[in-house]
Amino acid sequence: MRCASGIEARQVDELAINIDPIQAGGRLTGDAMKAVIAYGDGYSVCDNCRKPNRLDYISKPPIAEFHKDVSAWLNMDSVRTVPGARRGFQAVAHTYVQKGDPVLLTSLSHYTEFLAVEGAGGIACEIPANDQHIVTPDAAALKIEEVKKKFGRVPVLAFIDHVDYQYGNMHDIKVIAKVCHQYDIPVLYNGAYTVGILPVNGKELGVDFVVGSGHKSMSSPAPSGILAATTERAAEVFRTTSITGDVTQRKFGIKEPEMMGCTLMGVTLIGMMASFPQVKERVKHFERELDNNRIVVDALLSVEGTKILSEMPRKHTLTRADTIGSFDKIAESHKKRGYYFSNALEEKGVTGVIPGATKIWKFNTYGMTKKQAVYLAEVFVEIAQENGLLLRA
Ligand SMILES: *Cc1c(COP(=O)(O)O)cnc(C)c1O
Repeated sequence: MRCASGIEARQVDELAINIDPIQAGGRLTGDAMKAVIAYGDGYSVCDNCRKPNRLDYISKPPIAEFHKDVSAWLNMDSVRTVPGARRGFQAVAHTYVQKGDPVLLTSLSHYTEFLAVEGAGGIACEIPANDQHIVTPDAAALKIEEVKKKFGRVPVLAFIDHVDYQYGNMHDIKVIAKVCHQYDIPVLYNGAYTVGILPVNGKELGVDFVVGSGHKSMSSPAPSGILAATTERAAEVFRTTSITGDVTQRKFGIKEPEMMGCTLMGVTLIGMMASFPQVKERVKHFERELDNNRIVVDALLSVEGTKILSEMPRKHTLTRADTIGSFDKIAESHKKRGYYFSNALEEKGVTGVIPGATKIWKFNTYGMTKKQAVYLAEVFVEIAQENGLLLRA
């Protein structure tokens, strides 16, 4: 089946259990799929745009209401949609960071946070994670003091991931934010792996910004995401334009420079909106997701030589496995080398593990049914047995 010459219809999640870490939380809901078809045309949400002409004021379809709902849901004061979490980082970095300014990141930060800092001319100062791969409030305090000595001033902004992309570990952002605020450093909560997955309460965490990724964690088309702010910070990041044309004397009303006026103007926004009721509901049931994750992790650990590198017990479904002592041993002498593992998974209807990887790899059990989790657990054990690996007693 083809969409057009050279473009095959994609059938991945329809045909297999997909455990790709970055795809599990972004799979569209049925409602989002319908919305995507209906709003595929360019500028499709602009039919009923009226003065004051800004995306977040449109009431038909209910875009204004969606903004209010997302803001209340995150317990923040203001929200805008953005083309991916990274564009949220960029808007915030561009507002606070000047050339040569130190910016706080962590040793587990995502590359897009680094690029946002780079784009604004800032200098990356990483809080090191400890040997359990956890970023602690103490380490944050030490790093701020170190920056203060080196630069003669504290970092102008902090990017902190609640759950990091490498281990899926959860970091104590509430206390880290408290430490940063003692030095008047604004804190951006990176919720790429949490907003739309588990409950997030911005005021309770005491953060200045909450960033979420639509296509990673809110069952939305790419590129989409949200940037939420407190009232104080919204006035800074969502400031309105003040420029005037020197010939025409034109001004541009309430358009926001950091948002380039309007952001998501079609499928991306409507997709997010269509999935939102289900996303709001699913975050209340994150326990079930952890139960499913436990079934799979226990099965992997039953294979002798396998380690889980993420914190245990798991607090998130994104998990990093070390199978150097198990599945990788087989790869050494297997005629398909490391590909035997991903091939065997594919044959059994499981996709999303990097082809050839048998040493250290990640998976995400998010969104599967219990039946699928039990099946996935059996698949890992079966592949181990078929290749003569021992099971722990
Ligand atoms: C995926 C990811 C991002 C980037 O999200 P986009 O919405 O694709 O821009 C940023 N930070 C972390 C921790 C991520 O895992």
